[in-house]
Amino acid sequence: MKLPLCTTLAAFSIIAAVHFTGSLKAGDTLVQVSTIDALVQGIFDGGVSFGELGKAGDFGIGTLDDLDGEMLALDGKFYQIASDGKVREIPATVETPFAAMTFFKSDKTLALGATESLEALQKRLDAEIPSENLFYAVKVTGSFPMIKVRSVPKQSPPYPTLTEAAKKQSLFTLENVRGTLVGFRCPSWVKGINVPGYHFHFLSDDRQHGGHVLDCTFTEGEAGIDTLENFRMLLPQDAAFLKADLTKHDEKALEAVEKLRK
Ligand SMILES: [Zn+2]
Repeated sequence: MKLPLCTTLAAFSIIAAVHFTGSLKAGDTLVQVSTIDALVQGIFDGGVSFGELGKAGDFGIGTLDDLDGEMLALDGKFYQIASDGKVREIPATVETPFAAMTFFKSDKTLALGATESLEALQKRLDAEIPSENLFYAVKVTGSFPMIKVRSVPKQSPPYPTLTEAAKKQSLFTLENVRGTLVGFRCPSWVKGINVPGYHFHFLSDDRQHGGHVLDCTFTEGEAGIDTLENFRMLLPQDAAFLKADLTKHDEKALEAVEKLRK
């Protein structure tokens, strides 16, 4: 039997509604610029301005053109944490080569007690998420007796790999600071595209300190978890990306630059 198109579509949307809580039109979306493997390979040329990126969210993390420090977006403002440790608001005309953004709206809020490490904090958060196969935006606010952060120095073309650039990273250990962790938890199947697991950047309440988080201790505060049903990517169109060999994924290189070296 041949059904009229509208009937077929109506039937499909009923079936789809059972399996998907998101909408393709809007809703909770993770919007990402470029891929993590492109960044690992040294594709540091920005392609999207922060003015434009603001349309994709008010909350997120990433980096700046020429890998000029760590980027954190909170409450609609973009901050650069440069390799000298200084925090500045990012002008709308500056561009990013890699970023992940969303409009943060907490689906679940939990009170957090004393936590002895970033790993322990991640385990605590893992106990609250419904599945490891989805994306989550995570915001943690409170007091940090210790937080270890890093930032990467500005590069110039021809760009080195991220591994080479990160060898000259600046490490900062902050003590007794109040602030916010801004980040995402990505599923393991995202390998090559984004960072599987948690990835946090930090900004202090006084907007003076921050960076990519390597470790922390935590006394008290709150975590908000936003489940994201949509995932969208904006891909670079420049020669560096078009000609890059992205057939291989170097997991060890990514681990080495994103995690704490023990
Ligand atoms: Zn980072």
